[in-house]
Amino acid sequence: MTDLPRILPENDHNRTLVNNVHPPAWINPEPAPIYNLVVIGAGTAGLITAAGAAGLGARVALVERHLMGGDCLNVGCVPSKGIIRAAHAFHEARHTRAFGVSGGDRLAIDFGAAMQRMQAIRAGISAHDSARRYSEELGVDVFFGRCRFSDPGTIEVEGKTLRFKRAAICTGARAAVPPIPGLEEVGYLTNETVFSLTELPKRLAVIGAGPIGCELAQTFARLGSKVTLLETQERILRREEEDAALVVQKAFQREGIEICFHCRGQKAFFRDGEKVLVHHDEELVVDEILVGVGRAPNVEGLDLAKAGVDYDDKNGVKVDERLQTTNPDIYAAGDICTPYKFTHTADAMARILIANALFMGRQKTSDLVIPWCTYTDPEIAHVGIYPEQVEETGHKITTLTVPLDAVDRARLDGEVDGYARVYLQQGSDRILGATIVARHAGEMIGELCLAMTSRLGLKAIGRTIHPYPTQAEAVKKLADAYNRSRLTPLVAKALGGWLRWQRRIP
Ligand SMILES: Cc1cc2nc3c(=O)[nH]c(=O)nc-3n(C[C@H](O)[C@H](O)[C@H](O)COP(=O)(O)OP(=O)(O)OC[C@H]3O[C@@H](n4cnc5c(N)ncnc54)[C@H](O)[C@@H]3O)c2cc1C
Repeated sequence: MTDLPRILPENDHNRTLVNNVHPPAWINPEPAPIYNLVVIGAGTAGLITAAGAAGLGARVALVERHLMGGDCLNVGCVPSKGIIRAAHAFHEARHTRAFGVSGGDRLAIDFGAAMQRMQAIRAGISAHDSARRYSEELGVDVFFGRCRFSDPGTIEVEGKTLRFKRAAICTGARAAVPPIPGLEEVGYLTNETVFSLTELPKRLAVIGAGPIGCELAQTFARLGSKVTLLETQERILRREEEDAALVVQKAFQREGIEICFHCRGQKAFFRDGEKVLVHHDEELVVDEILVGVGRAPNVEGLDLAKAGVDYDDKNGVKVDERLQTTNPDIYAAGDICTPYKFTHTADAMARILIANALFMGRQKTSDLVIPWCTYTDPEIAHVGIYPEQVEETGHKITTLTVPLDAVDRARLDGEVDGYARVYLQQGSDRILGATIVARHAGEMIGELCLAMTSRLGLKAIGRTIHPYPTQAEAVKKLADAYNRSRLTPLVAKALGGWLRWQRRIP
């Protein structure tokens, strides 16, 4: 049976969304005798794979059990960035005193209107991922329902048999839930339900200070919730560099988010109709609990063993760097098979999958330069290596850092929290990695990604004229710092001598 296509609250925007990404009256087509490619899961990885393959002339079937667009469109990037924007607007408007604008403290936010704005935008974007577009414009056979492998070359979906030459598993991941006694009984929010809220929770506990937990903790705090963020480690965003995470952590604390470190929820229960979450033997009374402790791969129900596809419940489907599973006719892409769980990675992997599965390509995921960004304020964006990884291999790196208060535009905008940092191969300008902590870090890291992908060194960035005043000048200043570092005492002495000689009076 197909999952009921409902997105709450039921309003015109969400009905438009559902009509696009899982039309209630959809009738699955009659399958072709055999497909070049059957794609399971219509999130970013599955959609790009199906559209790309069909565009190149392949006969493609796409199977989705719930909503086309997957997490990114429905319950991930799009809705989260939609409400982050509202929270940001409110926060900005309330903190204008330094610019000579008063009255911000009298402003109020309409949570329902902010959510509806997000829902309207999501509905608008959904036309691009719609069943109708895929089937009528792109020529993909779209099937809704649960599917499973019946043997290494066949998939069953809602009583129909899809035979394939190649298959792609793109079933993504879902929120992992921490084993806190009583949590199921009191109920909790995940990314699948939080964007359906119609009222702002006055008191919100967020379990997990990873990217999703941090983005939403700050958003709800800015919208007006009293937020407590619980983290098992000694700091937030533990995958990021410590000083980067600390900049964000300080911003959180300034904004009134209470952070509990080394903190595991012990139990949860109801008292007098209120949710109580116990941690460190203390009781925290909240209106909602939001869980953001990581992602679990969607491997269940597919009968992967019948297809000869190896997997495990933690890391998902096992693939080699060409995205081939242990069944050479079956490939995988996206969150189901990578630790880099981002939309842009799913997209990049889908393109590799098409080349390798259908056209005997030899493309490798290990060649990808994968950036990411956590959309807190300030943002943290990263690409490439972290220094510890290089130190482990015995190689040496040069680290250059430009604090944002050295950038005129950041000072003028009042956005000086953060830095741009680059890691170079020692003795050269080859960029191995970079971290930017800045309000627009996600926009700024692109230039460094381009340089890394195109094997351009930092000197090339130094030769590039950046408009003044922009925050992207932070990246240019890294190149200036590199050029200065090349001015050895010997070269400085030679240049000084030349200039002295030029000044001589005849
Ligand atoms: C709150 C949140 C915010 C995020 N923000 C960002 C961001 O800002 N930037 C970014 O790059 N990434 C972000 N991500 C991550 C991003 O959403 C994922 O990396 C991306 O959606 C992965 O795409 P995918 O196709 O691999 O999987 P998914 O999008 O999860 O799609 C998988 C699809 O497979 C379907 N499916 C599963 N099992 C079956 C089955 N048995 N049969 C048929 N269909 C099945 C699912 O219903 C789903 O539609 C965010 C995630 C969350 C949760």
